[in-house]
Amino acid sequence: MRIVRFESHGQIHTGELTDEGSARVIEGDLFGAFGVSDRVLPIQRLLAPIIPVDILCIGMNYREHAVETGSTVPKHPMLFIKGSNTLNHPGAPIYIPRLSDQIDYECELAIVIGRSGKYIPREQAMDYVLGYTCANDVSSRDWQRNKDLGGGQYARGKSFDGFCPLGPCIVTRDEVPQPNDLRIRTLLNGQVMQDHTTADMIFDIPTLIQSLSSTMSLRAGSVILTGTPQGVGFARKPPVFMKAGDTVVVEIEKIGRLENPVVAEGR
Ligand code: MG
Repeated sequence: MRIVRFESHGQIHTGELTDEGSARVIEGDLFGAFGVSDRVLPIQRLLAPIIPVDILCIGMNYREHAVETGSTVPKHPMLFIKGSNTLNHPGAPIYIPRLSDQIDYECELAIVIGRSGKYIPREQAMDYVLGYTCANDVSSRDWQRNKDLGGGQYARGKSFDGFCPLGPCIVTRDEVPQPNDLRIRTLLNGQVMQDHTTADMIFDIPTLIQSLSSTMSLRAGSVILTGTPQGVGFARKPPVFMKAGDTVVVEIEKIGRLENPVVAEGR
């Protein structure tokens, strides 16, 4: 099933995508009991398919990305968190903020957690997954990396407004039997910038769920951004940063295409 959240006739609904333009309304709780009704509505505007309760992010989770940034391969997943102010929608602008011009893209497979749990064994981890969506872990590299600006923690450079586009839909787990074998790409103005496979993750999806839930409750409705592969803008020679007028696309096999325009924030 492909689950979308959308506006139709001035109201927000969750539904099962039927084709490019409409959805069957879902009644009930996505994280409890729900059903798909017979009511079909036109999708007038797509929204992020979920309002996450937590946006959990994994740093440095692809071997080739560790190589390009000169980083050592971590022994445990490195967790950081993006603020809820970062949530952004398919087709909505990513703003170049007033205080940074080093705005980078990161294509990431996002896991949508469907059931709450703690101390989840690796073998049971997939039972906690509702599905998957595309994410762009938009990052201000100066605020992320310059300790004088960001205080040595990722959260600030990763949490400018709108820095977490999600979508276009949640593809449920049953439709993606091998989530660690998907092609993942970023296109900037049509040019391929990142092109890799989720098979290169250092910590695969069951390991991430097992590890995160060993120190915190993983809550239903959370998303986990699973890290980005090589090809990010700041590590290129010369560096490439996004600028107003650009269009950035994250594409993941079997999941979909998440496209956002890049726009200058008002001064
Ligand atoms: Mg990232």
